[in-house]
Amino acid sequence: MTKNIPYIGRFAPTPTGPLHFGSLVAALASYLDAKAHQGTWRLRIEDLDPPREDPSASSRIPEQLLQHGLQWDGDIEFQSQHSARYETALSQLANNGFTFACQCSRKQLLHSHGLHQDNCSITDSHQPCAIRLRVPAQLFGFSDRVFGHYQQNLMQDVGDQILKRKDGLYAYQLAVVVDDYLSGITHIVRGADLLDNTPRQLFLMQCLGYPQPEYLHVPLALNDAGQKLSKQNQATAIEAQDAKTNLLAALTFLQQDISPKMQAADITELLAMAVSQWLPSRIKPNHDGLI
Ligand code: GLU
Repeated sequence: MTKNIPYIGRFAPTPTGPLHFGSLVAALASYLDAKAHQGTWRLRIEDLDPPREDPSASSRIPEQLLQHGLQWDGDIEFQSQHSARYETALSQLANNGFTFACQCSRKQLLHSHGLHQDNCSITDSHQPCAIRLRVPAQLFGFSDRVFGHYQQNLMQDVGDQILKRKDGLYAYQLAVVVDDYLSGITHIVRGADLLDNTPRQLFLMQCLGYPQPEYLHVPLALNDAGQKLSKQNQATAIEAQDAKTNLLAALTFLQQDISPKMQAADITELLAMAVSQWLPSRIKPNHDGLI
């Protein structure tokens, strides 16, 4: 176990529905990694996009975490309350020439597979604009604690990134980077579906002058059809009465040892033992679960 290094981690669910087994795996991994480093574990609800959200999920998710013994530190943060800080970051980026206003429609970007890779110009100054981050035609990589080196050419693979949409909603890419920085997050542990979002986030951090956190992406739990568990494919919500079974299954998924003592323990003791035995080096990347 690594100790005594400054560690602030977080779990940052989007409230599109209640927690299912896949999101429990990500929550548990980030909790265990934080506690094994004697760190802080924060909870942030990423409620940026009301039309995509389930109004009950913002209260149900914290309840489900507590039912599984996963108590966060400090107050819950809500991205819906952070517009002012996102605007400050957008002004900083604009003042340094990193962003531009764009009116391109999805249809106009079809020739480049939906990626924005060309210069564009405002066609109607009375119509709303999106704000995009100009990305370089350059490889951006990082070293993930499970998946190892991962890199992308930002222009070819990602294109100029939307930071604020035409309808005024802030993009996840902007919000996650600004919030992690302002919460002092040092270690990010999350699902591997976000591995391919990381290089663009690192570039944005660089533009804003933020330090780079450490990353550990957890392989995705897939259903029998090989799809990521999600609300869209009816992943079932985890329930309080199955808390111990769910935790044991999530630990097994994360390749952690489960002793007979853990099988017999209550969830508080089970989590304490899981923290003291946490070995993220045992997690195997499942590349087939990606993208
Ligand atoms: N809100 C994102 C999700 O629920 C996770 C964001 C992150 O951990 O960076 O998939």
